[in-house]
Amino acid sequence: MRPALVYHPAYSAPLPSSHRFPMAKFRLLHQALQQRGLASADQWHRPLPAPRRWLELVHSRTYHQAFSRNSLERQQQRRIGLPATPPLVRRTWLSVGGTVLTARLALQHGIACHLAGGTHHAFPEHGSGFCIFNDVAVAARVLLSEGLVQRLMVVDLDVHQGDATALIFQGEPRVLTFSAHAASNFPARKQSSDLDLPLPDGLEDEPYLEAVGGVLPELIEQHRPQLVLYNAGVDPHRRDRLGRLELSDAGLLRRDHLVLDACLRRGVPVATVIGGGYDALPELVERHLLVFRAATDQARLHRAGI
Ligand SMILES: [Zn+2]
Repeated sequence: MRPALVYHPAYSAPLPSSHRFPMAKFRLLHQALQQRGLASADQWHRPLPAPRRWLELVHSRTYHQAFSRNSLERQQQRRIGLPATPPLVRRTWLSVGGTVLTARLALQHGIACHLAGGTHHAFPEHGSGFCIFNDVAVAARVLLSEGLVQRLMVVDLDVHQGDATALIFQGEPRVLTFSAHAASNFPARKQSSDLDLPLPDGLEDEPYLEAVGGVLPELIEQHRPQLVLYNAGVDPHRRDRLGRLELSDAGLLRRDHLVLDACLRRGVPVATVIGGGYDALPELVERHLLVFRAATDQARLHRAGI
């Protein structure tokens, strides 16, 4: 069995070549999964743009309209760091639709992976740090509002704190938020997740895996989520331009196995999003491939997927 995969060809919206966001990574990741034999035709699913009513479970109409019409104030636009061109606006709505679809597929098949998503610095009224809409928060609210789940959990292992996700679900007992991140990294002002694991600069594979592995299984058993939404950001890697941790490729792969196995062995479906990663493209694509490798193996081991 293999994980369900979610992708749209419009994800890699064109950006000026001087822009520092690695927008081509989505397309190259799709290509690499096919070339490496990690995906066959029956695994692919293509999302539709999120409808407005889904977005508005998290974001205000004023904000999403201003962004989509390219009429945000300059300071708000600058805080996002991406230009609101028509292709970028389209891919932004599509990516939220993609994470919702990935979450639904995970509920059906046990495991599903999105080739985008994890924009966890997007707050209800403003975006930040390349994040415009909070796809994981929208997916959680959509599934809860449809009654498909009563409890879920966000596991955010991107190197940056999942600050907006933490804030959105404060006081929401049905959603448990867990973020393990470099304590000294962006955002300077942290929010409170249900559990935060602030990590020291320079942390390597073993202590990192001990720290995450030391809390995750118990969290799952205590909260008993019916779905885990996993942000598998690769920016804790030692070569990442924006990370401050020292994980190796093997460390990231073990991390992804740890999370997926902790969910699947307890019968908890899991949906993954790729999260952040900042490096030259060939290396970055290899790093984002790791969670798909782990998902492929874990699907087979636990007889999940399609
Ligand atoms: Zn990040």
